[in-house]
Amino acid sequence: MSDATETHCPYCALQCGMGLRPADGPVPVTVVERPAFPVNQGALCGKGASAAAVLAPGARLTSPLVRVDGELRPASWPQALDRIAAGLAGTAERYGRDAVGVFGGGGLTNEKAYALGKFARVVLGTSAIDYNGRFCMSSAAAGGIRAFGVDRGLPFPVADIPRAGCVILVGGNPAETMPPFVRYLRELKENGGRLIVVDPRRTRTAELADLHLAPRPGTDLALALGMLHLVVADGRTDEEFIAQRTTGWPETRDAAMAHWPEHVEAVTGVPLPQLREAVRLFCGAPTGMVLTARGPEQQAKGTDTVSAWINLCLATGNAGRPYAGYGCLTGQGNGQGGREHGQKADQLPGYRKLDDPAARAHVAAVWGVAPDSLPGPGRSAYELLESLGGEVRALLLMGSNPVVSAPSSTRIAERLGSLDFLAVSDVVLSETAELADVVLPVTQWAEETGTMTNLEGRVVLRRKAVDPPEGVRSDLEVLRALAERLGRPEGFPTEPEEVFEELRRASAGGAADYAGISYPRIAAEDGVFWPCPEPDHPGTPRLFLDRFATPDGRARFTAVQHRPAAEEPDTDYPLRLTTGRVLAQYQSGAQTRRVEALNQAAPGAFVELHPVLAERLGVREGDRVAVVSRRGRTVTPARLTAAIRPDTVFMPFHWPGEANANRHTNPALDPVSRMPEFKACAVRVEAAD
Ligand code: SF4
Repeated sequence: MSDATETHCPYCALQCGMGLRPADGPVPVTVVERPAFPVNQGALCGKGASAAAVLAPGARLTSPLVRVDGELRPASWPQALDRIAAGLAGTAERYGRDAVGVFGGGGLTNEKAYALGKFARVVLGTSAIDYNGRFCMSSAAAGGIRAFGVDRGLPFPVADIPRAGCVILVGGNPAETMPPFVRYLRELKENGGRLIVVDPRRTRTAELADLHLAPRPGTDLALALGMLHLVVADGRTDEEFIAQRTTGWPETRDAAMAHWPEHVEAVTGVPLPQLREAVRLFCGAPTGMVLTARGPEQQAKGTDTVSAWINLCLATGNAGRPYAGYGCLTGQGNGQGGREHGQKADQLPGYRKLDDPAARAHVAAVWGVAPDSLPGPGRSAYELLESLGGEVRALLLMGSNPVVSAPSSTRIAERLGSLDFLAVSDVVLSETAELADVVLPVTQWAEETGTMTNLEGRVVLRRKAVDPPEGVRSDLEVLRALAERLGRPEGFPTEPEEVFEELRRASAGGAADYAGISYPRIAAEDGVFWPCPEPDHPGTPRLFLDRFATPDGRARFTAVQHRPAAEEPDTDYPLRLTTGRVLAQYQSGAQTRRVEALNQAAPGAFVELHPVLAERLGVREGDRVAVVSRRGRTVTPARLTAAIRPDTVFMPFHWPGEANANRHTNPALDPVSRMPEFKACAVRVEAAD
């Protein structure tokens, strides 16, 4: 490791530590282990281990592109930036400031997310900003804030997980999405702890479980209510904890008691003995954790579903003490930090609310503007995308690929295509960048320094290991250059550490307080947990031990009711489709589809069918079949497996075009988090011809 630069993986929220050694050839660095970083202790999955391949000039953009006569053609940086500035300013002049939109990404560093939010509010003066993290864990964030007063993915370090007595993992498959995390589940079992996995599919993660519950997609809320009903009926509630540290229990208890276990069995398809066994394991353990991922969160009732699982934790006294509690396995690399620093439609840095006068005054003072000059809250991600070509006429998009990753993706591609002006900054020519008027090639993880906040709330430092190729600039340089052209050059430094120093001041006093965190400190401590209000504060690996972050210090129960998915199966569309990821691809695949080793391991989309269903449909392994929904049609090979429910089919969502699972996904939105219902919609499967 001595000659290797210590940094972190470009992909998921585990933010595994890795080293980068200089190398000869088109790929300028070699990824090596970094055993000292505590989260992954040297382990990397195939995505992280092969990440350097995207640094090669042949795999990525190295020149700005400008659309001329309908074609994207190489252009100089001044030409490209002038065109963007003219496109954004012209639109604002013609239609008003809110006609200019900004769309960010959960993979951007904290510094970029902060600068992008500031750019939108201060330079463009628009309320129309949101980011793709809205599609990731926003329901968990909303549920966490509702119950605990603050949202931090995990309120404890991952190292606490093996010390729990029982862990319920709901709708997550870390064995494929973040394999180094699995060691914590294995250690849990080695320590005598129990693992319950809730997933409609018997995934690689479910294979590890002591108990696998396979509910119908979209019924996790009912499952949690059924468990709570049994907890109450069996007298297994923690009355002392409920009395001393919570509010809202009577209404929540009554709501759970209205959901009879027999009814829950009928709704979820989970046999009642399994439900009872889950309660026995969870309540029989000295401490319990519930971890959710996208399964329960990406629903039109995602926030209530998260609340139902939190209620189970609170009723059993499993919160606010060591080795117990609720947490969310955040997905994107900076899904956590990306939602703390102001690129979300309703937020200012420090996890402050944009409609809070005190928050506006604090941040406006740091930015040197009048509080009333800041726009108000804007639309959520899907609503912003849906308004393209209508109320929003021009868009600046950074580090996101909604043509593949947004729900009802055909519709979103049409909306993007109807814009007067689209500018995209990205590392590669993604499917969304292909639609742009201007594409800017920007630096990536190994070529720049910046901080990320992992799923534990640990702020880590990515370090520059190699110079970018000629023709590539950083997103911070892009924002500075655009701010100059749009008449506000001050306040947009291009050095990441300078941006971070301002972020510290802007976040000071907020829920996500970074004031005591600095680059030297992160480097010395291998990450610092927020909140960390002072330089001599130790950081906060475990939240809520003394009090919850609510005004009265108590956690809040929320009474919730089961309701069906927004789109239930019927005679035309008799099956449920659920979506997810595979081991060798990441999110929209914009980067990982350019890595040969990963493409060999996962070359394309497929649809998983239970053999019983396949026989009924006359489908054999490998047959090309059409999946048809109200929103689109896809054609992929069939993969037969008994690991999925016979009433459910599964598609991974990493591929574009006729293989794109998000052609089907339903943009019905959660009323609180505005999360679309990615995880449950109605489809039919038929012969491709
Ligand atoms: Fe990268 Fe996530 Fe794999 Fe770790 S688990 S190497 S962070 S993709």
